[in-house]
Amino acid sequence: MIILDGKKTSHDIKEEIAVEVNSIVSSGGKTPHLSAILVGSDGASETYVNAKVKACAKVGFQSTLIRLSEDVSEEDLLAEVKKINDNSDIDGLIVQLPLPKHINEMKVTEAIDPKKDVDGFHPSNIGRMALNLPTYLPATPAGILELLKRYDVETSGKHCVVIGRSHIVGSPMSILMSRNNIPGNCTVTLTHSRTQNLKGITKTADILIVALGKAEFVTSDMIKEGVCIIDVGITRVRSDKNKSGWKLLGDVNFEDVKEKCSFITPVPGGVGPMTIAMLLQNTLISTKK
Ligand code: NAP
Repeated sequence: MIILDGKKTSHDIKEEIAVEVNSIVSSGGKTPHLSAILVGSDGASETYVNAKVKACAKVGFQSTLIRLSEDVSEEDLLAEVKKINDNSDIDGLIVQLPLPKHINEMKVTEAIDPKKDVDGFHPSNIGRMALNLPTYLPATPAGILELLKRYDVETSGKHCVVIGRSHIVGSPMSILMSRNNIPGNCTVTLTHSRTQNLKGITKTADILIVALGKAEFVTSDMIKEGVCIIDVGITRVRSDKNKSGWKLLGDVNFEDVKEKCSFITPVPGGVGPMTIAMLLQNTLISTKK
């Protein structure tokens, strides 16, 4: 069994980006600039945004964090998005999700200039992705593709089963794995909460991508020998063993399945770190354009 090490791979990608930024800037080019909007003070969102800002500094990007209060109106948030769209110094914009209930997330996503949509969530970028045209790929699915590529996991002709159909992970992942690309060229089955006989389907997977948000849901009786497992899930649970009092669990019972796998991503240290690396890569692409 080979561990798909997202921590090391994301570190390598960040180093590659830092070298490129250094060469662009030293030859008189523009410093990449990512702007993030954070609404409210949700603990998890705060952690994710801070990690993104820190990663920007590490690779030599400029970043701007705009904090808006929990009760900001949709109109004011949209005005903030427009301001950033119109600011030619800013190459990429992310609005940290989820947003408070009174704000329509899709309306905000659609308001972002597709050329600055480095999260790859804008409908026109999702459409371009589906058509296999150059675009910003959503960061988490892009990170998974990059891991499969860098570890030479064979995907062509394989049966890929995806659990979960969210707009940010499962659904784009199913499209990407079915495209005529490397990695890609899989026969894909996309499953969700209404799927019948899930275990019967997952047992036929050569590649199993799990993104449903239920800790340790996938167990060894659900998989076949030699499967490659990508565990996207992150659930925080109480733990006396950790100093922080918390630990992170994936959607896969790692200890139970590991002996049956050819490849597997750990949690933490698998898909999670790759997401930020891909966001930086998308921002660099935007700057170069
Ligand atoms: P989400 O929006 O909550 O979607 C969950 C999906 O799982 C839905 O499509 C749901 O089906 C499906 N589902 C729920 N229970 C199921 C079951 N028993 N059998 C089959 N399918 C089931 O989740 P998400 O945003 O994609 O996130 C999934 C997990 O990945 C979470 O733990 C999240 O924290 C994590 N995540 C990690 C990263 C990272 O960077 N590592 C990034 C994003 C998300 P329905 O559509 O029918 O409801």
